[in-house]
Amino acid sequence: MAVERERETGRTCPRLVIRDAMVVSGRGTPAEGPMDLVIGGGVIQDVIRVDPVTLGRYPSGWRRPEGDYVIDASGMYVMPGIVDTHAHIPTDPSRCGPDGWDYAYRLWLGHGVTTLRTMGFGNEAVLYGHRRQVKEDGTVAIPGLVILHGWPQPSRFTPAQAREEVRRAHEAGADGIKLLTIEPDLLEAICDEARNLGMPAGVGIHLALNSEVDAATASNAGVRTIEHTYGIPEAAIPGVQNFPPVYNEMDELARFRQSGYNWSEAERYPERVVGVLDTMIRNGTAWNPTLSVYEANRDLMRAQRAVWNDSFVTPRLLKNWSPTPGVHASFHFDWRTSDEVAWKEKYRLWMKYLNVFFDRGGTITAGSDAGSLYTLYGFSMVRELELLQEAGFHPLDAVKMATANGASVLGLNDRAWGIRVGAPADLAVVDGNPLENFKVMYGTGVERFLDDRVTKVQAGGVRWTIRGGVVFDARALLQDVQEYVRSLKA
Ligand SMILES: [Zn+2]
Repeated sequence: MAVERERETGRTCPRLVIRDAMVVSGRGTPAEGPMDLVIGGGVIQDVIRVDPVTLGRYPSGWRRPEGDYVIDASGMYVMPGIVDTHAHIPTDPSRCGPDGWDYAYRLWLGHGVTTLRTMGFGNEAVLYGHRRQVKEDGTVAIPGLVILHGWPQPSRFTPAQAREEVRRAHEAGADGIKLLTIEPDLLEAICDEARNLGMPAGVGIHLALNSEVDAATASNAGVRTIEHTYGIPEAAIPGVQNFPPVYNEMDELARFRQSGYNWSEAERYPERVVGVLDTMIRNGTAWNPTLSVYEANRDLMRAQRAVWNDSFVTPRLLKNWSPTPGVHASFHFDWRTSDEVAWKEKYRLWMKYLNVFFDRGGTITAGSDAGSLYTLYGFSMVRELELLQEAGFHPLDAVKMATANGASVLGLNDRAWGIRVGAPADLAVVDGNPLENFKVMYGTGVERFLDDRVTKVQAGGVRWTIRGGVVFDARALLQDVQEYVRSLKA
């Protein structure tokens, strides 16, 4: 990045103490505090209640823990680092500009995201290098990477060749496989091979609107996650969705327009929808809805005028988002009132069935799929939390989805413990109470008024992000991002 100041990197210390924090475990339990957290060797060593009532019960001579580095977190909330379960890393300069990956990683870390499940972009070899960098030097500003091998498109394999491709990916270092729509027999072969090899993150699939494989068949084949919402309503609709006679699946505008009606068609068969969801629950298939990435479809102007667009979005990214022929997901050439109405109804039903899935025992994770459709790395993960709350989930459950659930679906079992002794120290220290208002987590912060309610101050945001015990100044990371964007505009 062409900036004058040194870019922010992480800080290591043998013994880190976070003082007076309100703690959100990430396991769905209520917030507790104030607490002191002691971190060493990249792991949470101790979680200590320091409220006066509890302190009274400590033996005489008890002293508060000391550290080489102490973070004063009074008035702040500490939660587990966020797991974004649907990430595409922009290593190609045509996405966000040169150093696009560095830009995106800083935006993620700047919003408390410590783990990414990468979902393919044909750049896995580069990402293996990034993962190695983190291993060799924890202070590099890159979140933990769980790398899925993006399945080659178009997929032209026999089942035996598909197995061979899974083995090659495994050998290269892939943690799992990311699929787009694929033939049923190939899907079974791929899931079976990934299972035999013990790939920790399994198989994630983004189903097409209309294909031979739907969410029920994919779940029965053994995929770990269903991405977005495709394939679930389709599995419930008998036969095919009611496409107009001139519909062409390769016309992206038409595809997204018709996608606005898949849930309302499925809603005519509610018992069949529940059957599909029960199949997923029975098979242990998680649902990664990525609500935030499609939000422009229900309110285009909101997306086009987001407050962070001015100083956090690179010119190239802005250009890619605007209707651009030949660029994927830039189809808003002729986006109509009727399209937004359809998508608003789609969200209503989508959220309703997320609740049905949850109530019946299904696992929901939180992923952003940021980088397209006016959604920005890091920011859209906070938006995902807001949309999970809009769907009707308690903020504590939304945080669990975005932390412990994500970790367990990725096979990161110790991270699924959230905040507790022995868990890896992946944490976000938030300036404010995210359970009261997720907006305090946005890098643009929130306006607060001091006692007299006249003096306005800018506050909020994630203050520190801790990945594997390494402390990152989240504000400084976001300052790097703004300087990078400024340099590209100069
Ligand atoms: Zn994606």
